[in-house]
Amino acid sequence: MARHTTIDVLVCGAGAAGLTVAIELARRGVSFRLIEKLETPFPGSRGKGIQPRTQEVFEDLGILDRVMAAGGLYPPQRVYREDGSHVDSDMAGRIEPTPAEPYHLPLMLPQFLTERILRERLGELGHRVAFGCELLDFEQDLDGVTACVAGPAGEETVSARYLVGADGGRSSIRKALGVDFPGKTLGVRAIVADVELAGLDRDAWHQFNQGDMARMLAICPLAGTSLFQIQAPVALEAPTDLSVEGLTALAAARTGRTDILVRSVSWASDYRMNARLADRYRVGRVFLAGDAAHAHPPTGGQGLNTSVQDAYNLGWKLAAALKGTGEHLLDSYEAERRPVAEAVLGLSTRLLDAQQQGGMRRGREVHQLDTGYPDSPLARELRARTGGIRAGDRAPDAPFQGAAGQPSRLFQLFRGPHWVLLAQEASLPEFKPRAGLHVHHVGPKGDVVDVAGHIQAAYGLARGECVLVRPDGYVGATFDAEQAAKLGAYLDSVGLQ
Ligand SMILES: Cc1cc2nc3c(=O)[nH]c(=O)nc-3n(C[C@H](O)[C@H](O)[C@H](O)COP(=O)(O)OP(=O)(O)OC[C@H]3O[C@@H](n4cnc5c(N)ncnc54)[C@H](O)[C@@H]3O)c2cc1C
Repeated sequence: MARHTTIDVLVCGAGAAGLTVAIELARRGVSFRLIEKLETPFPGSRGKGIQPRTQEVFEDLGILDRVMAAGGLYPPQRVYREDGSHVDSDMAGRIEPTPAEPYHLPLMLPQFLTERILRERLGELGHRVAFGCELLDFEQDLDGVTACVAGPAGEETVSARYLVGADGGRSSIRKALGVDFPGKTLGVRAIVADVELAGLDRDAWHQFNQGDMARMLAICPLAGTSLFQIQAPVALEAPTDLSVEGLTALAAARTGRTDILVRSVSWASDYRMNARLADRYRVGRVFLAGDAAHAHPPTGGQGLNTSVQDAYNLGWKLAAALKGTGEHLLDSYEAERRPVAEAVLGLSTRLLDAQQQGGMRRGREVHQLDTGYPDSPLARELRARTGGIRAGDRAPDAPFQGAAGQPSRLFQLFRGPHWVLLAQEASLPEFKPRAGLHVHHVGPKGDVVDVAGHIQAAYGLARGECVLVRPDGYVGATFDAEQAAKLGAYLDSVGLQ
């Protein structure tokens, strides 16, 4: 007889999305299982760019410094001309960090290392990935999901209150739910390979024949490894040879150089680019996250980042729902994240077009810092504000001084699974403490002293105004101190009973 396990959440797929959901559930004490059908971790570099907004998420998850230490910044792009000479340029315009936006440049780390760091963080929280466990089938009713999982010890029935389908672009969960995945195949096929290679320096991202889809070749040193990542568009139907010899021959054919020698191949793939978006992100008790919900071309380095942020949006809502907040919180996941993915699909497709014309340049739009949820059902403005921060905006960072004189930052106050209420020179006598909500008073007599005016510059709060910041770093509500009593229903509804 098959074994039977009962948990709160079953997360299917241990890529970037599944691992992030799992960390979010683990740090809130939710009982869950993270299953992965591969026997061992995925070995490919794939999504190697960690955008500034994802760096902020990683700071909150407690892994940003590890990611930075393991990887590094992107090297300059070295564009080769027909005569063999080259010109170097920064991949993105150099944008200085600001007090409100402390991370300003994409980091580079091959996806297998990013996932390793996520797994280590999960381990610190007392959980691990169940490798070699495949979701075969599931059904759901009003109370939960019953799944059949095949693992090393045989088949098992898992009953869960919710199922998260973080099972990648070919998501069997999406298909089983009957959710359409409309969009288009972009008519571009490409190879990507992680290789040891001789003949090129590691101080630049080498780019040959930019804009010529028949001859383009990009070879990027992968930070944190001795590998290079080779990327090249290839003909739609022609056979590809991803062996050492085949890749060396490709490099010679596209560069005219015989000194670029591939020594070994640790992972290689040949894929067709798609731009697709799931019609729904939620069906009953089942949610789609990451590539299961959206497929992008790799231009602009958005896929992994969008996937991590889906998971970061969903994790705290699932934990709150398990405490009985009701359905509206879970419904807000699709309302908030699907429009973001729609915009990202448009962006990465436009960047692909620009790349095909030889003119791709990544600007601020790829950083994902301007992502917000102003139209979310969770955004509450109890008093219309004419300027400053609005409900749904990303909550900016700001350095300040603690009342005890120590330097601090808002992101330090936000770090963790709780909500934060910032009250600008406001007294809140009626406001009772609630589990999961940290209240901070900003002002000369508060615990947060805005000595350099960075909080004022970023939030623009007048005396008596308050801002409620969600666990995922977006503003949930803005209100006047005297309206605090009216906020009770909102707080109840988001799990802060
Ligand atoms: C060739 C290639 C190049 C890319 N380049 C870039 C890039 O440059 N920049 C960028 O940002 N993104 C890039 N991406 C996209 C990026 O890799 C994805 O957006 C990211 O991996 C999505 O993470 P995910 O967790 O949603 O899905 P995945 O990483 O695909 O993880 C899904 C996991 O679910 C597992 N799974 C599937 N079905 C089951 C099942 N039934 N039971 C148990 N487990 C299951 C799979 O084995 C897999 O490990 C690239 C992707 C590919 C394929």
